[in-house]
Amino acid sequence: MKTVNGQEIIQLFESWSPKKLACMENDPIGLAIGTLNKPVRKVLVTLDVNEEVADEAIAQGCELIIAHHPPIFRRLSNIRTDNPAGRLYEKLIKNDIAVYAAHTNLDVAEDGVNDLLADALQLENRFILEETYAENMLKLAVFIPTANATDLREALAKAGAGRIGDYEACSYTTMGEGRFRPLEGANPHVGAIGELHVEEEVKIEVVFPESVKNRVLKAMLNAHPYEEPAYDLIRLDQQTNVMGLGRVGFLPQEMTLHEFTQFVKKQLDVPAVRVVGDLQSKVKKVALVGGDGNKYIYSAKRAGADVFLTGDMYFHTAQDAQAIGLQIVDPGHHVEKVMIAGVAKKMTRMCEDKKYSVEFVQSTIHTEPFLFV
Ligand SMILES: [Zn+2]
Repeated sequence: MKTVNGQEIIQLFESWSPKKLACMENDPIGLAIGTLNKPVRKVLVTLDVNEEVADEAIAQGCELIIAHHPPIFRRLSNIRTDNPAGRLYEKLIKNDIAVYAAHTNLDVAEDGVNDLLADALQLENRFILEETYAENMLKLAVFIPTANATDLREALAKAGAGRIGDYEACSYTTMGEGRFRPLEGANPHVGAIGELHVEEEVKIEVVFPESVKNRVLKAMLNAHPYEEPAYDLIRLDQQTNVMGLGRVGFLPQEMTLHEFTQFVKKQLDVPAVRVVGDLQSKVKKVALVGGDGNKYIYSAKRAGADVFLTGDMYFHTAQDAQAIGLQIVDPGHHVEKVMIAGVAKKMTRMCEDKKYSVEFVQSTIHTEPFLFV
């Protein structure tokens, strides 16, 4: 096991929940306070950062906090230590505690907040409620002497090219002839300076997502024997790695809306929920968005959900949902606390695999401001 710095921990975190998945304009994700350029042995995972959470981090000896809700959400015009926010920042900085926020990127990520909520509700046969991210597919066609084709195909597959669904190392090869005349100053693999050379070559075609483009091109250039490899790189009208916000899935068994509310209270550990709909109606297909899902009532309706579970439902949105015949269960925004255990467990596993010596502590501070009376 080796001691690592904050940067290495966050790199690992972002391999799971990259910033590019964020789906809110100017979502203030990433390092918010302090530095990652220091050894980190203990990380506190929390939904929110307030003074009590900062005290918890100090008491636990954590050098880093990973939070879902960014501690600096709006542009600051001052850092006055005579108000609560300024006091919080002062405390964190004076105690050398860094804060890193993963907000809507963690909502979208696989095994992120929305998947964790869907897990808690035991939803099966899940799909994404609203697609927010996809990668373009690229195609590489490269021309290479027949003798070098096998090595190149292997190098391309190793770099992540040619993965299609449940298949890997997919490629297509056609045979042909390459012609070239090396000029003065060239150092040709085959052929002589000033003479037109004909070489038996093959064309190898592979597809891959844009995110591995640099890796694939580098592998191709390394495996190619020519000084000036000839290749085409083409952008396809095809997408892959589609991800998005919210989940839709099916309850293990049909239940009444009333039974569902009781199930939600138990599974998400909340004392009460607000409901729109007919408590005696049957529900099985559930759409959910952690946090504030007001914008997604029409997506939930289009997805054919029997009920839409989301927090922070506004009065008028609830009326709109009622008007389009969409049932709502609002368990409050605080159910996103499922991310505390979810992130801590997943990061513990990922760090163990990497032999990183770091402990993830789950915050026990209750940051729900509402009382139910
Ligand atoms: Zn939230």
